[in-house]
Amino acid sequence: MTTLVLFGRPASGKGTVGQRLAESGYLACSTGQAMREWAAGPSDEQRALRETMATGGYGSDELAVRIVREFIQGLPPETTGVILDGFPRDLAQLEAWLAAPIDHGIAAVVDTPEAVCRDRMLGRMICPACGWSDHTPTTICVRCGAELQRRADDGDAAVFDRRVSDYETRVAPVIDAWARADLPLIRLDGTRDVDAIARELRAEVARLEGR
Ligand SMILES: [Zn+2]
Repeated sequence: MTTLVLFGRPASGKGTVGQRLAESGYLACSTGQAMREWAAGPSDEQRALRETMATGGYGSDELAVRIVREFIQGLPPETTGVILDGFPRDLAQLEAWLAAPIDHGIAAVVDTPEAVCRDRMLGRMICPACGWSDHTPTTICVRCGAELQRRADDGDAAVFDRRVSDYETRVAPVIDAWARADLPLIRLDGTRDVDAIARELRAEVARLEGR
């Protein structure tokens, strides 16, 4: 079973790539959901996590790693692979992950330049004359020929900026540390068609696993 750790900026296309892999037998592990399910159990430890999460906190990194491990170990052995998305969430969690005596998996970065991500997220265009909606780089309404206007408001831009800045300060260092630790890392050109990205990713995984 392949453990695949997916990284990518907001609107990089990472989520869609994950969906394509799900169609070929990968299962997604949502750390948040796995932790909530684990915390619903009866032990003191589980109740403690339940109380921590109820007040908006996280469990310790060691506990998160243990829950992800148990999630993976609980999957049917014929499962193609598991996708970890949003895990490890930061350098401390990566350290806990690498300290565990397990297969740490293969990381894949959907590498999409920030400007492209921004256009994808904020590039919605609308025709002020007839209401037709489109997407950059289209600038002229295909229905009536009027000039399209951007529909995203400043609030959307602020949300995007915040998410990108969070990615650069919290997630990018995890990718750098992953590469420094000499763990398998696949960099994918995120500007291409999602099917091409998913195909390359599957081929690279097969190559790294010697299949
Ligand atoms: Zn129009």
